[in-house]
Amino acid sequence: MNKTQFSIKQLVRKNIQYLKPYSSARDEFTDFDQDMVFLDANENPYENGVNRYPDPQQKSLKKIIANQRKVSETNLLLGNGSDEVLDLIFRAFCEPGIDNIITLPPTYGMYKVLAEINNIEEQQVWLEEGFQPDVEAILATANSDSKLLFICSPNNPSGNLIEQKRIEELLERFRGLVIIDEAYIDFTDRESWVGSIDRYPNLIVTQTLSKAYGLAGIRLGICYASEEIIDILNKIKPPYNVNELTQQRALQRVSNEDQILAEISAIIEGRTLLEEALSNISFVEKIFKSDANFILVRVDDANKRYDQLIKEGIVVRNRSTQPLCKNTLRFTVGTKEENEKLIEVLTLISN
Ligand SMILES: *Cc1c(COP(=O)(O)O)cnc(C)c1O
Repeated sequence: MNKTQFSIKQLVRKNIQYLKPYSSARDEFTDFDQDMVFLDANENPYENGVNRYPDPQQKSLKKIIANQRKVSETNLLLGNGSDEVLDLIFRAFCEPGIDNIITLPPTYGMYKVLAEINNIEEQQVWLEEGFQPDVEAILATANSDSKLLFICSPNNPSGNLIEQKRIEELLERFRGLVIIDEAYIDFTDRESWVGSIDRYPNLIVTQTLSKAYGLAGIRLGICYASEEIIDILNKIKPPYNVNELTQQRALQRVSNEDQILAEISAIIEGRTLLEEALSNISFVEKIFKSDANFILVRVDDANKRYDQLIKEGIVVRNRSTQPLCKNTLRFTVGTKEENEKLIEVLTLISN
């Protein structure tokens, strides 16, 4: 949708639109030019590094991320993993028992779980063979209560990028918000959709430090959208949703881009080697092209191969119950040693 057709007020839940957010102690007093004595938040005054509440707006961290991703800080919201960010989007825009969302299976399982938790109907429009969205089917399924459309690109579990033209078509014609989940964007050469948030007022992009950035344990998710959308999400986020230790570790890590890029290169190289080795395993029937840090593979009998791998001490993901994913296993790319071990075991059980 273009900016003249779009009105965020028509999408946001009424109770959220008129909500007056909680104002925390650290929100109320932020600008100061001298050493202040903070007796406003009932904290324990004895310094131990984390005795104070964290910055509710994570300003230092946002500054670096905004800089690296070439957006304004006002287009950013950080959360306790992208899972929290996605949940905030549900709670801001989807009226329980009335609204619905559209998902494109096979895809990330959290969209459905969040819909269930929030009592929002999930309308599924399966991807086509080749794991691309059926644009006309999606638009035909959508109705005036369809608030969110989730596009995961590169898609989990199939690993492929969603074609740019199809996404553009959906951004232009879908009447709700389009969420592009870019958890795996750093493993591709394709440009992020973050650069398009000014162009599409109904676009939300999510990213995470859990995959390429190697920080799944600290829980840090990133949401990019128009200032209007970010303002709404800011109103409903828990005041201190990103804790101090997470902010510190994330700051350290994002400031060390060279290390991250080196690890990403090594993972992509490992992916290529794994693809080659997998093509020599007799029970592997198809290797799906991946733009992520995992490979989806069709085998002769996924349950049997899964169990054999477990017996040899290797845990992979069996995706066979997902649409279009019959007899598939998903392998995460590991270290060189882990990948070699995987190939060794696959070779062993194929004989
Ligand atoms: C792993 C993954 C995430 C990450 O979620 P976090 O809560 O940030 O760890 C998000 N989306 C997809 C598609 C994923 O596979």
